[in-house]
Amino acid sequence: MLRITGPAIAELPVAAADGGQDSISPITVIGNDAVRETFCGQTLRQAINSRLAPGVSRVVLNPDAHVGYGAPVGCVMVSPSHVYPGPVGVDIKCSMSLLQTDLPADAINELTVRRKLIKAIGKRVPSGAGRGQRNAPKSRRVDGALGFQVVTEGATKSVLKKLGIPKGWADACEDAFHTAPDGSSDTLAARLQWMGRQRDKLDRIESKYRQLGSLGGGNHFGEAEVVQLVQDPALRKIGESFGLRDGHVAFLTHCGSRGFGHDMAMGQFRAMKSDFEKRGLAFPAGDPQLCYAEADSDAGQKYLCDMAMGANFATVNHLLINALVLEAFREVFPSVRGELVYFISHNIVRRETIDGMRQWVHRKGATRAFPAGHPDLARTAFADTGHPILLPGNPRDGSSIMVANPGASASAFSVNHGAGRRMSRTKAKKNLRQEAVDQGLLDHDIISNCRVYPRDEAPDAYKDFGEVLASVTQAGLASEVARLKAKFVIKD
Ligand code: 5GP
Ligand code: MN
Ligand code: MN
Repeated sequence: MLRITGPAIAELPVAAADGGQDSISPITVIGNDAVRETFCGQTLRQAINSRLAPGVSRVVLNPDAHVGYGAPVGCVMVSPSHVYPGPVGVDIKCSMSLLQTDLPADAINELTVRRKLIKAIGKRVPSGAGRGQRNAPKSRRVDGALGFQVVTEGATKSVLKKLGIPKGWADACEDAFHTAPDGSSDTLAARLQWMGRQRDKLDRIESKYRQLGSLGGGNHFGEAEVVQLVQDPALRKIGESFGLRDGHVAFLTHCGSRGFGHDMAMGQFRAMKSDFEKRGLAFPAGDPQLCYAEADSDAGQKYLCDMAMGANFATVNHLLINALVLEAFREVFPSVRGELVYFISHNIVRRETIDGMRQWVHRKGATRAFPAGHPDLARTAFADTGHPILLPGNPRDGSSIMVANPGASASAFSVNHGAGRRMSRTKAKKNLRQEAVDQGLLDHDIISNCRVYPRDEAPDAYKDFGEVLASVTQAGLASEVARLKAKFVIKD
């Protein structure tokens, strides 16, 4: 079925429902032989459903692709006209961020030191489903007024100041703030005020602000790393320009918009689905998870407003976590310094130029990859290099920092957002032995905060990270500038 068109690039032809094939461009599939074997029939089916959905101009399947809701996780879906909440997902703007410290790696060799750090972080940054500021004595408390400002404004100077976040960190964000489609944060404020006036909604909204500065549960994590820059001098130089320090400790964070973003996304799903039903419209491939709206329609604009508020939550959540993690490092090492390298998302829709047109680019478990000279990087520190791409793999095999090549245009300026699941959670729990999982991490000198490491989050539940990375490089999308070696993981 797949037509190989280059090293680690293939095309999946898509036939229109009426049998014609000419007008539909094929799906781009990134992955070498080993990775292509990991794509199951349902993943490909979901990619085809997404490609055939109304208004869609292009779909890319990345090496980490696996079955999702409606669209696969690990895909990019592009449309000049339509927005799709499903291919953004319920964790709006789930993202990765990296904090680089000036601590040499051997400062955290001792297990007792690492345990102290885990404890100091836990006092400030709660983790686990449903957890919030009250679960961590040294968290930053966020009241209703500040929470309102956070989600309607994003990481503005005023918000950063109130939360004690260094103001320069806004420049290390892929996007520091999101507005309504009309460019205004007042439109978001009006919409949020309206939501608050609905029965019991204000209490619920304000309770979610109390999760700002927290990791959440499941697949989200915080991880202390040792940075290893690659040998290639040009790429090493790029790594250094990102602020990466070879042989020094860094901290990688994975989380999103917590309960706030979840509520925004679920509210939109409900509204859009009931609108479909009222109008007697059919869901693409009969799947309600692929409901959609024209971006210019009332429903589309409302979706973009709610997504923007979820995205603002996620942005400030990450920045606050990084500030609190740095504070925790200072509790153990009082003179340590740290800077945010980058904050980059993998569940969002944004307008970008693709194939010479302004289009809505949905990245569902996919990471933006703009190379040097991309017009959207023009006024940033990354104009001449491309921005850092933060790619988690798994604690045992490490994670990677990459930078995009011009070849990234082949994948709608995107790469994968990780290794991607190889086993479902149920299958992982059934197939993986607890002692082997625990021993595997200890053998690699990695400790965690968990009494029992979750088997469904074990390294072997994910795809072979080496093959995934090789696919990205072979396809010419991006090059590695550094590898991160985990020293401890915080995961609940
Ligand atoms: P998501 O859960 O957002 O779909 O995927 C995030 C990616 O993070 C996964 O595809 C996986 O490769 C990676 N990942 C999951 N758990 C960990 C972890 O504990 N440490 C690291 N470094 N990566 C992880
Ligand atoms: Mn998430
Ligand atoms: Mn995520």
